[in-house]
Formats: sequence, structure tokens, C-alpha cells
Amino acid sequence: MTNALVRLDENFRIDRLVPTLGLLAVSATSLIVAPIFAAGSEIAALSLFALTGVFFIHQFGIRGGPLAVGFLITATLVAVIGIPMARGLTLAVGGIVVAGFMAFYSTWIQDIHTGRDHRRSVAGDLETAVRMSHEGEEEFVQKTEKHEKRLQTWTSLVGVVHECSSTLKFDQLAEAVLATVEALFPEDRASLWLSAAPPRADARSAAVVRPASQPASQGRRYQRRTYDLLVPCPDGLDLVAGQSRQNILVVDRDKDSRFQSAESRFSGRSALVCPLIEEGNIYGNLRVVSEQPERFDHDDMVILSHIASVFSMSASNVRLYERTEELALTDGQTGLYKRYYYEKRFSEECKRALRKSNNLSVILVDIDLFKRVNDTYGHSVGDRVLQAVGRVIREVDWGGPLPCRWGGEEFLVALPDATRPQAKARAEDIAGKIKAIAFQGEPAEGAPKGGPAPTFRVTVSVGVASFPADTGDPEQLFQISDRRLYRAKNTGRDQVVDHD
Ligand code: GH3
Ligand code: MG
Ligand code: MG
Repeated sequence: MTNALVRLDENFRIDRLVPTLGLLAVSATSLIVAPIFAAGSEIAALSLFALTGVFFIHQFGIRGGPLAVGFLITATLVAVIGIPMARGLTLAVGGIVVAGFMAFYSTWIQDIHTGRDHRRSVAGDLETAVRMSHEGEEEFVQKTEKHEKRLQTWTSLVGVVHECSSTLKFDQLAEAVLATVEALFPEDRASLWLSAAPPRADARSAAVVRPASQPASQGRRYQRRTYDLLVPCPDGLDLVAGQSRQNILVVDRDKDSRFQSAESRFSGRSALVCPLIEEGNIYGNLRVVSEQPERFDHDDMVILSHIASVFSMSASNVRLYERTEELALTDGQTGLYKRYYYEKRFSEECKRALRKSNNLSVILVDIDLFKRVNDTYGHSVGDRVLQAVGRVIREVDWGGPLPCRWGGEEFLVALPDATRPQAKARAEDIAGKIKAIAFQGEPAEGAPKGGPAPTFRVTVSVGVASFPADTGDPEQLFQISDRRLYRAKNTGRDQVVDHD
């Protein structure tokens, strides 16, 4: 209905009615003119006709022409009906002259009208063109901005996928993800919260990777150390994301019913949170928080969730790789490094000691008469002894690389910065700890069931060597410590030897 009216309005043009109006005007004028004419004033009558015609022609161009025709007919009728022939002729001739004039005038006016119409139409077209071009420009700018943003998003996504898939270091992974989120939301606070790895069923809370209270731009660099720290649930965002196990978009915290209780509050007005889930367990979240409301929309949520997925997938790959590497480099029985890997690490320590002129000591530990343990209590008991000795050595903070299992029942420890007396003291300390362990053997064959298992203890012999006290070449420390261990064995075992 409305549309029909609008169409009628648009199509209506007054000049289409001109012929009708013209004829009506002539008829009306004739009525007025008749008395004037009767009074003998042909000139006045003709002038009135002419004026009416000129007015219409001027207003409506050639369409005013019917007026002239109407005038002629009327004049002729008036001339014919009941007036003397001479005056009738005068009127008719006058009418023809006026009509001719008006025909000429109407053609002339029409040219003007056509020009005006043309100018109008050109101006209209121009205006329309300018308007369209402005609208087009705005639309174009908007579209270009939208496309640029989309392109930036896709470039970032491709970049983060590439970086994440090409690194096997967890720290680099976390950094790449944070850097991408920061680039996409430069004015907001991006952070990655992680629980202890690997994900645990009960790990609902997370450790701070980048403190949420700091703006991303000033954010502390990610530290792997903090990653292993399990802290209480950081805030309401973590709580709500953990409970729902869904990505969360907070348009305005103050109007969001999920964040009204004291425990669900968080610092900021709007936020995006994606929980990180592996094998059904939540082990952290990736989030962006803003101080202003309505900073994020659904599209932002989708982008962040893609990044979170990329992180999750890559993190599980990294974990798998780390686990594989751990298995390859460490001894399964004692959890200590294998010898071939340790030699590489030791070499690095040697270079460092030489470069910085620092002390470097090694201690070589060998379980005394271990063969006898195996022979007396069996290999499984022997294994338990190895594991226990390995654990004692592993749990000490030596200030350097994790010790290694050098051979069957031999262990080697490097002590960066330790002098020979310091190394000897630590060796004696560890020997004392090992000696203090009471091991349980299997009950002897034929002994009554449920009877007490025999208890025994083991001792160790240790060789100590130090750089630069014993040698100018730290690579020689292995041999020197081995020689001193041999000496300890030969001079009664259960002792630490630090000289030849
Ligand atoms: P010493 O005091 O001179 O060092 O005497 P020892 O018996 O400890 O030394 P020896 O070299 O004669 O024997 C080492 C034994 O360690 C022999 C080997 O069976 C045992 N052994 C090596 N690796 C393992 C292991 O993984 N498990 C068990 N149960 N025994 C092992
Ligand atoms: Mg040995
Ligand atoms: Mg031995």
C-alpha cells in the first residue's frame, strides 16, 4: 500500500495535465471574455486570450499549445454566433494571429524548457552520480577496512599455526600464542593461564603465565618456572569458564548475570575466555580482557577459540615430544640422565668453567659389593636398591645439570662452581644418606611365611676431582675421579677419596 502511494507520487507530473487545464482555462476565459467582447472591445478580449495562452505556454512549454487551438476554436465560435460578420472576421483573424504567435512562442519556450529540463536532468544526474560516488566511497572504505581486518586476522592465524607447528619448545609456543593475541587485540590485556603439566583431572585452577593485572604490552616475559606452579583459581573468569567448559564472551560484566556473585567477579568490563582442554581435562585458559564494555563480539570469540585450539593441539604435541625426549635421555630405572647425553651437558659445563675461570668438580659414586646384593637377595631387590640410591642423588640440588647413571651401579654428578673441599663434603653427605637407608630383602627360601624379611644396608665409594685444583683441563675430571674411586675401592670401600 505504502509502496503504491510512493510510486504514484514519484510518477505524478503536473505538466501531464496541461492540455486539460489549457482547455479548461480557455473555456473559462471565453466566459469572462464574452461580455468584454459584447461591449465591443475585441482588442481587450484578444489580449486576455493571449495573456492566458502566454501564461500556460510559459509555464508548461509546448504543452501549452492546446490553449492556442482552444482559443482559435472559441474565437471562431464566438465570431460565428450572433455577431456581425465584420466583427466576427476581425475576431477570427485576430484569433488566428494570436494563435500563430502562441504557436511560435510555445515552440520557442519549449526550447528553453528543453534546455532547462536537460540542465536539470544533467544536474540531477550529476548530483545522483556524486551522491552515489560518495556512498560508494564510504561503502568501499568500509569494505576495504573489513577486508583488511579479515586479512590481518587470517595472516595472524596462519602465522600462529605456522609458528606453533614449527616449535617443539613449550615456552616458544606460549610466546607465539600470546604475541598473536596481543597483535589482534592491541588495546586489551591478553594472558595465558596454565595449570601444572601434564593436565590433571583435578587441575581446575591455573598458574600465572602473564599476570592478568598487567597490561599485555608491559607483560612479563613468559617463564616456564611459573608454568609448573599451581595457584588457586585466579578469578571469576576462570571459575565460570571452568564450570561451563565453554568459550565465554562477556559483553559487559556489569550486565551479565553470570558475573554478579563475589566469587565470579573479575577485573575488567568485557572479556573473551577460551578454556584449554585436553582429554577432557581443563588445564588453563586463554583470555583477553578490556576495561571497557562491549569491546568484543562473536567474531572475536571465534578467532580466539581458533587460536586456543591451535595452542591446545600444539601443546599436546610438545608434551608428547618432551615425554619422548625424556624417555630417550633419561634412565627409566633411576630417572637420571643417560651417560651419552650427560657427556654433552658436561662438556658445556666445562666450557663455561674455562670461560669464566670458575671451579668445577665431579663426584663418581659406586655402590660397594653390589654384585653380592644381587646374589644374596635377587635382582629385583638389587633394582630397588639402585632406584633408591638414584632417588637420593636426584633429590639433591647440585646447582648444575641433573646427575647421570654412569654405568650399572655407578653415578656421576657435576658440581659447577664447587671447590674440591666443597665437593668432598657433599659427597660425604650423600654417602651418609645412602648408608642410612634400610633395605628389605626377600625372606630366605624355606623360611616360615609371614616371617620378618632380612634388612640390609649398602655403602658407596666415591672419587672426587676438581678443576682447576687437579687439572687444567676439565675434560680430564672423569678419568681423575675414576682413578680416585678405584683407590677408594682398593683401600677399604665406604669412603670418599679426593686425592691420588
Ligand atoms: P665393587 O664394590 O668393587 O664395586 O663391587 P661390585 O659388586 O659392586 O662391582 P661389580 O662390578 O663386580 O658388580 C656390579 C654389579 O652390578 C654386576 C651387575 O650384575 C650389577 N648390575 C648392573 N646393573 C644392574 C641393574 O640394573 N640391576 C641389578 N639388579 N644389577 C645390576
Ligand atoms: Mg662398578
Ligand atoms: Mg660396585
